[in-house]
Amino acid sequence: MLDFGLKRTMKRVFSGFRPTGKQHIGNYLGVIRNCVSLQDEYDCIYCVVDIHALTTLESTKTLQEDTYEMVLDWLAAGIDPQRCILFVQSHVPQVMELHTLFGMVTPLSWLLRVPTFKEKVKMQPHNVNYGLVGYPVLMAADITLYKGEIVPVGEDQLPHLELTREIVRRFNSTFGNVFPEPQAKLTSFPSVLGLDGAQKMSKSYNNHIEIAAPPEEILKRVMTAITDPARKYRSDPGHPDICNIFSLHKFFAPSRVEEIASDCRTAGIGCVDCKKMLAQSISSSLEPFREKRAMLASKPDYIAEVLADGANRAEAIARETMKEVKDKMGLVQRVHLEHICD
Ligand code: SF4
Repeated sequence: MLDFGLKRTMKRVFSGFRPTGKQHIGNYLGVIRNCVSLQDEYDCIYCVVDIHALTTLESTKTLQEDTYEMVLDWLAAGIDPQRCILFVQSHVPQVMELHTLFGMVTPLSWLLRVPTFKEKVKMQPHNVNYGLVGYPVLMAADITLYKGEIVPVGEDQLPHLELTREIVRRFNSTFGNVFPEPQAKLTSFPSVLGLDGAQKMSKSYNNHIEIAAPPEEILKRVMTAITDPARKYRSDPGHPDICNIFSLHKFFAPSRVEEIASDCRTAGIGCVDCKKMLAQSISSSLEPFREKRAMLASKPDYIAEVLADGANRAEAIARETMKEVKDKMGLVQRVHLEHICD
């Protein structure tokens, strides 16, 4: 059994999230709820990956605000800084150092074959920056700097994690064991359709509902949603299984879905009333969240304090890891002058 110096009783989860500003119900149902429940079983480290965001951002004007709003939503939704470490990637500079050192054991050919790199090159041919190709190396540094053992991923992200594992294997076999090979925790994040009923809920398609939206905004957004396209008149029977509003009822009013499905199929309910019911269910389920968010937002320095404390705790782990890494790689450890003068 390899000893990675881990003296914890719970396994460590690492997960990184791009700062995307106010979160929508797709983020909430798909990712945030899962992260909240992982806190019960694992030693969780959650990181806002602002450096990763720089690889694709056209402008950084809203980056600070997006980070703040996202963290506020996460905290209000149940991410508990007493039970996890929540911090911003760029606040722990050792990740850049480890990224550079991992660059020395990562063949360029591994990076050039990554499908998402090829996709990004097509999407932003005017900006094929180094960050795009080095992205998986930085991701490997993110996870391993904190000796992350478990990484929650959807099936589509498995190839990225496999690359991290390859980098870890290459490093450990070249220099000696420092890092655990992180394992995937395959998670089926429910994919939430947007209000257009056609694409995944996303701010970029403007088909979303923010979880912090007030009830009147929720109602306004829900009323714009596309429903069963075959149901043209109130008297037409509907097909709930192909209706996006119905799929959202499943999340927000699970005890009423059978009744709603039956009323829809028999034209016992019209789409307008059905949408109003959904808006009401979303609003009431998110009411405790909105109250907590408003309370946290009223404390002027709260977010900065949470992130500062998270960065301190993350950096303490990072410093230890980097000492080991440099030692194994044969780099001369820096000695501070005060130690020499003593
Ligand atoms: S009644 Fe509800 S479930 Fe049925 S088609 Fe209309 S919105 Fe969809």
